[in-house]
Amino acid sequence: MRRKLIAGNWKMNGLLASGRGLARDLAAQLGDQPPACEFLVCPPFHLLVPVAEEIAGSPVLLGAQDCHSAEKGAHTGDVSAAMLADLGCSHVILGHSERRADHGESNSLVRAKAEAAFGAALVPVICIGETEDQRQAGEALAVVGAQIAGSLPQAEGEFVVAYEPVWAIGSGRTPTRDDVGDVHGHIRTLLCDRLGDARGRAIRILYGGSVKAANAGELLGIDQVDGALVGGASLEASEFRAIGTACA
Ligand code: PEP
Repeated sequence: MRRKLIAGNWKMNGLLASGRGLARDLAAQLGDQPPACEFLVCPPFHLLVPVAEEIAGSPVLLGAQDCHSAEKGAHTGDVSAAMLADLGCSHVILGHSERRADHGESNSLVRAKAEAAFGAALVPVICIGETEDQRQAGEALAVVGAQIAGSLPQAEGEFVVAYEPVWAIGSGRTPTRDDVGDVHGHIRTLLCDRLGDARGRAIRILYGGSVKAANAGELLGIDQVDGALVGGASLEASEFRAIGTACA
């Protein structure tokens, strides 16, 4: 059985006081829950330490939103996987479509970052997904397949795949149940082909793109959907908790 994972991507939101406050609310709201799922929060870099302090002792896991592919060295402004692990992170989001678009991140760079994450014992959450034009051209499965082939680490280690159609992120729009099921089923087949049945079936595949409490039950009930990567709705503790409750 794959336990569902609800991951919050805070993106570039929150200053010290508000970030601490949100983390404190999350720890209070999620701490005493019999967890139907695992919760992960991924604040921006400057909030990792304060958030780690606020969620200490709660079941909420800590993740970052990116890391560099190198272990250390002359990379001004960048952060290594080991630095993130040192701050208490267990996970790191990699290859989010906003980083692929804003920073020109390629599949091979995402793969190198994922392998760097393994080197620091972090679990990479590797994001893939088609643009609206690609979906309309009937290319969604091919695009996702190419991203799987190019972005996944070749080394052994635990990772998570997040399927996030680019056009669904922050738009309030979601694919149909059938479309989500088709893509997740395709990803599962590709994972099993690549890693063998046992390992391929153990990998969690999250859906991301406009998930909120109101649609979480439906999306999380689709075959092969093992959780959600949540942007906007993760910035409110009660909404985030309600998404987790939908797992039950
Ligand atoms: C995201 O950015 O990963 C995301 C899914 O955002 P939202 O939930 O706001 O669509």
